[in-house]
Amino acid sequence: MRGAIVRVARRTPKNPLHRDQPLTQEQIAGIALHEIGHALGFQGHVSHGDTAMVRSRDDITARGRAVMKGERVGDATLLALYALAPGAVVRRSPVGPARTEAVDRLAEAAVRLGLRGPFVRVGDRDGRVFWRDPSGEEYGVVVTDIGRLLGDPNRLVLLPEPKTRALLEDVPR
Ligand SMILES: [Zn+2]
Repeated sequence: MRGAIVRVARRTPKNPLHRDQPLTQEQIAGIALHEIGHALGFQGHVSHGDTAMVRSRDDITARGRAVMKGERVGDATLLALYALAPGAVVRRSPVGPARTEAVDRLAEAAVRLGLRGPFVRVGDRDGRVFWRDPSGEEYGVVVTDIGRLLGDPNRLVLLPEPKTRALLEDVPR
């Protein structure tokens, strides 16, 4: 990875009554720390442990409170990720070429068409690898069931998005 953009909201999402409220400085600091962990490469969440990468919002806020008090971030997980050189590969999982064909073809087309990327978005369950054209249109493939894939990479299935399928049909192999 060479870079990441982290956007942190300053207000809660709107509830069913369309009301939101400002997040506290402690909440924002905790969320920022947590999201920086994802940007550094931490995929998913843990249910407990001495890290900002927990799922509990209260625990994340407690970490933000410590940051706001000026305490050092003693989060071994984040510090280990931060210590990696940019572009460091922490794991490789070889899979058969057919499993990556969709993204391989898209990567080749992206070079020919001058698309920017790849960009990656990963959640707890699903992820997306995509490129952007100069107008901001995105062409990507979707990865599902990431939790299971980590244990069994040979179940990788990449689903090209509709626009990507159309693009790949137009581009000769
Ligand atoms: Zn998270």
